[in-house]
Amino acid sequence: MNTFSEFDLIKNLSERFSKNLDNIVGIGDDCSVVPFDEKYSQITTTDLLVEDVHFLKNKISAKDLAYRSIAVNISDIAAMGGHPEHIYLSLGLPKNLSPSYLNEFLEAFENTCKHYGVKVLGGDTSSCEKIVINILVQGKVEKEAVKLRSKAKEGDFVCTTGVLADSAIGLGILFEKYVTKHDSYFLEKHKTPRPHLEEGRWLSKWSEVHSMIDISDGIFADLGHICEQSKVQGVLDLKDLPLSIEAKNFFKENKEAFTDCISSGEDFILIFTVARHALEKISADFYKNFQRPLYKIGHIEKGSGVKLLLDGEIYDPAQKGFDHFGASQ
Ligand code: ADP
Ligand code: MG
Repeated sequence: MNTFSEFDLIKNLSERFSKNLDNIVGIGDDCSVVPFDEKYSQITTTDLLVEDVHFLKNKISAKDLAYRSIAVNISDIAAMGGHPEHIYLSLGLPKNLSPSYLNEFLEAFENTCKHYGVKVLGGDTSSCEKIVINILVQGKVEKEAVKLRSKAKEGDFVCTTGVLADSAIGLGILFEKYVTKHDSYFLEKHKTPRPHLEEGRWLSKWSEVHSMIDISDGIFADLGHICEQSKVQGVLDLKDLPLSIEAKNFFKENKEAFTDCISSGEDFILIFTVARHALEKISADFYKNFQRPLYKIGHIEKGSGVKLLLDGEIYDPAQKGFDHFGASQ
């Protein structure tokens, strides 16, 4: 029986290890933040991908797995407003893994590192019953530009840099739960998500952008992290949650899938909170720069947790995000 949740574990770790860190941000944000020199802080993130937990070997190619394992870490760098520099790759590999699988993985890993301009500086290797991939990415961010989960302010608007649910629909297609008219679109969004690195860098330059996080656990869980750390309440309106045209069409015919998909994670877009007075200017400039809109999805007020509204009434989605140990669902 599950007796603890992933969120409780991280809270426990944070209470133990985040004391007396002075100018360092430790456990609890997308990256740790350590002062580097006068201008920059060093930011570091690490993620585990475990076969049969995070991926099924027969459902994702070695090439896509390599890309994805880097992309999920780059997304955490993006969430701080930083840029990536170095990467460490640790691998647990079954003894009978074919050399061609490993080569395909490493070739894609090399290409993806080149794409992001990051250098592989080390790692570790062990035999293991299943494939286990641990990646650590280090980067930098200008000290005044870093965006933390803990700085949302009452009155802020809540925005995203992209649409929700495409990745969750893709996952459903992978598991033969859904059939759609745009399978390849959704599968691509799930297998090879694009971290919003340029968007994060761009948003970091605005002091009116107060807090930021990437969506890995789901919109409610991840905005919940901002709210918990900033000691505020997030209010979202269901009707404002942004969807692609493909997802809208899918939900028209699959209404029962909506709640699951909207609260599911792995979109790897950014959620941020911004001072009300600056939203118009930032939205217009964002559009000029990226030829895509920002989406205003709610606001921050006094209180705690995340409140979802539909037609002014509180709406309670059955599932609020992904928890590895399942105790909080
Ligand atoms: P993200 O989804 O942004 O990758 P996680 O939910 O994985 O973030 O982790 C949240 C925070 O908890 C991060 O600051 C991370 O470094 C920290 N964390 C998670 N697991 C551990 C662990 N086993 N030991 C120490 N810190 C951890
Ligand atoms: Mg994150």
